[in-house]
Amino acid sequence: MSLAEFDLIEHIRRRLPARDDVVLGIGDDAALLRLPESRQLAVTADTLNAGVHFPHATAPADIGWKALAVNLSDLAAMGAQPAWCTLALSLPKADPDWLDAFIDGFLELALLHRTALVGGDTTRGPLSISVTAVGWVEPGKALRRDGAQPGDDVWVTGTLGDAAAALRLWQAGLPAPDALMARLDRPTPRVETGRTLNAIAHACIDLSDGLLADLGHICTRSSVAAEIELDALPASDTLREHFDQSTRWQLQTGGGDDYELCFTAPAQARDAIAALAREGAASVSRIGRLVAGAGIRAFDANGGCWHPERAGYEHFFRTDPAV
Ligand code: ADP
Ligand code: MG
Repeated sequence: MSLAEFDLIEHIRRRLPARDDVVLGIGDDAALLRLPESRQLAVTADTLNAGVHFPHATAPADIGWKALAVNLSDLAAMGAQPAWCTLALSLPKADPDWLDAFIDGFLELALLHRTALVGGDTTRGPLSISVTAVGWVEPGKALRRDGAQPGDDVWVTGTLGDAAAALRLWQAGLPAPDALMARLDRPTPRVETGRTLNAIAHACIDLSDGLLADLGHICTRSSVAAEIELDALPASDTLREHFDQSTRWQLQTGGGDDYELCFTAPAQARDAIAALAREGAASVSRIGRLVAGAGIRAFDANGGCWHPERAGYEHFFRTDPAV
């Protein structure tokens, strides 16, 4: 560990509040955590690489927020309560201003969801951020991908396509409205919704690669097929203003980076799910149903079957020569 590295870590450590469940945090060879009784741990990790998962020009505070957000979104999709995280940073240079801004964004979201940063690793290299997030869930209550059943409704939280729209505009060199950019740079992990859903939903996934690709994972793992009503896909006003229907459907079904939850639940749960949204958690929209079979079909308002230009989502900068 170089002195600069030590300074950087100390810089981070000084900013962290003490917590009862962190017996030993940053500074030793490993953290020691006090586990809640009779809970299962949910553990997830995600990496963001500059130029692959976010544009090089992204503000450091937004990178910090997003690095944690994508992990909390995974915990939300399991119905787990976030508790702790680690942060592995690869930095091209030791820049305290950059790090401060990065940690601002990271801790802003960490505090919102009571997630303690308990350790990590700091190395020199191309800008890359790996976060491991750990949460807990009541035994048997986790929202898995393999619990969906034919006859279930398919639901999503929030709105779809905003982040992909921002990216598309930005890549075309066009100014993206703030409302769309904010959804790309600062996704909202649906932690509270996930926690409540774990008593209601049969299956759940977070939307990182696009609705068709991610719902496809539920279908495969649960051996069911899905039918989606395109008119029911929730769209923000800004998305409607800027894109025609066909482009909008592409962005909403095939774009990535939404970090909304897609879940399935029996029809008897409709009232309980609508009540969820009224109680202040994220809005929810019923977008289709599960049937016996395999695959996903999407229908327009006339009942016509619609075929997307592409069903999945590649990492958006995969072809960027700068990477
Ligand atoms: P070691 O060489 O034993 O792995 P390090 O020098 O890498 O120890 O790290 C020293 C301490 O600082 C450890 O507790 C580690 O978890 C923590 N740490 C290192 N980098 C980070 C980081 N980016 N964020 C949070 N904690 C970090
Ligand atoms: Mg280390």
